[in-house]
Amino acid sequence: MANRSPWIHQLKADRQSVSLSSDVETDVAIVGAGIAGISTAYFLLANTDKKVIILEKGKFARGATGHNAGQIASYFERPFHELVGEFGLERAAEAQLAIESAWGLLDRMYTEAGLTLPLSRFIGHAGLSTLDQVISHLRDNQCRRQAGLRVEAFKVSKDAPFIASIPAEYADLYEVVSKDDIDDLLQTKNAVYHAGLSFQKGCLNSALFCEEMIDFMSKTYPERFALYEHSLIRKVVLRNGVALLDAGKHTVTADRVILCTNGFEGFTILNEGGLAIDTKFHHLVRGMVGYMSAYIEPMNKPPVAISYFEPAPVNADDPYAADPYFYLTRRQFDADGVQGTNLISVGGPEFSLDERMEYTHELEYPDQEKARIDAFVKSTYDTDPNRKIDYQFTWHGLMGYTPSGVRLVGAEPKNPTLLYNLGCNGVGILPSIYGAERISRIVGGEKMPPSIFDPKG
Ligand SMILES: Cc1cc2nc3c(=O)[nH]c(=O)nc-3n(C[C@H](O)[C@H](O)[C@H](O)COP(=O)(O)OP(=O)(O)OC[C@H]3O[C@@H](n4cnc5c(N)ncnc54)[C@H](O)[C@@H]3O)c2cc1C
Repeated sequence: MANRSPWIHQLKADRQSVSLSSDVETDVAIVGAGIAGISTAYFLLANTDKKVIILEKGKFARGATGHNAGQIASYFERPFHELVGEFGLERAAEAQLAIESAWGLLDRMYTEAGLTLPLSRFIGHAGLSTLDQVISHLRDNQCRRQAGLRVEAFKVSKDAPFIASIPAEYADLYEVVSKDDIDDLLQTKNAVYHAGLSFQKGCLNSALFCEEMIDFMSKTYPERFALYEHSLIRKVVLRNGVALLDAGKHTVTADRVILCTNGFEGFTILNEGGLAIDTKFHHLVRGMVGYMSAYIEPMNKPPVAISYFEPAPVNADDPYAADPYFYLTRRQFDADGVQGTNLISVGGPEFSLDERMEYTHELEYPDQEKARIDAFVKSTYDTDPNRKIDYQFTWHGLMGYTPSGVRLVGAEPKNPTLLYNLGCNGVGILPSIYGAERISRIVGGEKMPPSIFDPKG
């Protein structure tokens, strides 16, 4: 099966690309035109007087940005209590607030750029099935409360088989409700879910968001902004406060270069006259391919985002056993001239990329993953046994996991001419936007307080 994403399907088919056709000099060169590169360009243009160009090896938003779940969420890819364990309560709480602040930055982008694409914002939910999952999330809530952060609304069914085993220290962090209440919250009749938690979430087509932002920046900053597509950067040379980017036949000279490449692409970084920068830094980012399927139904329910943490599969050899988890969004979806429909999109199955294996978007979508998603939908969401679901979209994308599970945002300690806003992780929309604004402040000359996003030396 082909890789067919609903987000890319909504982009203009006839948009013209411009590629680099001569040498260029600029204040800032951004490599990568996903949501990180596009948002970084926007905040640099809005917050500084710098001239900014983006260099993209293919077409904009065809990376993770065009192949994700499009769910706006403010959590990290690791439980919050683990971040507290690694970075301390204060730093972890600052980082959590930083990511949540990106909601405001997103609003600012919508308002200033006059964006028209749908953005749904609502309370989303997560369903939990085991005691371990419940305790892990309660520990997160406990840390949040200690740090003075908003806690997640948490409900446990009075009939949960493990309710008597929940440690007493968490007693005031959850409410006991009926199983029906849990089912209503999670919009399921699946008996395995015994608890649910709720927090601010949203839905966005991040590829379409990039398209509208590019149109806005091209119109508003014609002298200071350009996007060059089909312009692969093979090498970055850092030389006394200047960066040279090798784009094949042409060279880009910039005062600052910002890698928004998702952390994977094979290029070389030479730090002339300074300490060697680990040119294999991208190998620090572990690759995971995530699979998703989506179908269309009448628009008879409001938008929602719900994650379902299943019990571990009986077969421990199943590669899925480590993280039995599905995420579902329902949102308005207008395409091909048809309006008034909802798109139900579901992801969950992930596959770890061998370090030697090159990921391409052309890889086949395995029938096995489609069947796994279909089995989840039938057991949990759309349980009409007579309905045959027609999945019009099946797609996959690459997630990069940094060892800490935290995005890299900031200047390279060995040479601040080079900056990063990368390391996508499975939750990357708000972190990319937060990183973009932080980068614009650094480039604007502000001294930023240390954070867990800082690249290490
Ligand atoms: C299956 C899946 C589901 C996800 N679900 C969610 C979700 O629900 N919510 C959420 O917040 N996040 C989600 N994410 C993560 C989110 O999509 C990413 O974090 C985000 O899109 C990353 O944006 P980016 O701009 O950093 O990377 P990308 O979108 O991958 O962009 C990087 C760009 O750099 C270009 N590039 C790379 N190297 C070069 C080079 N040498 N020269 C020129 N160009 C180059 C690439 O072509 C690409 O266009 C998901 C990801 C996947 C894969």
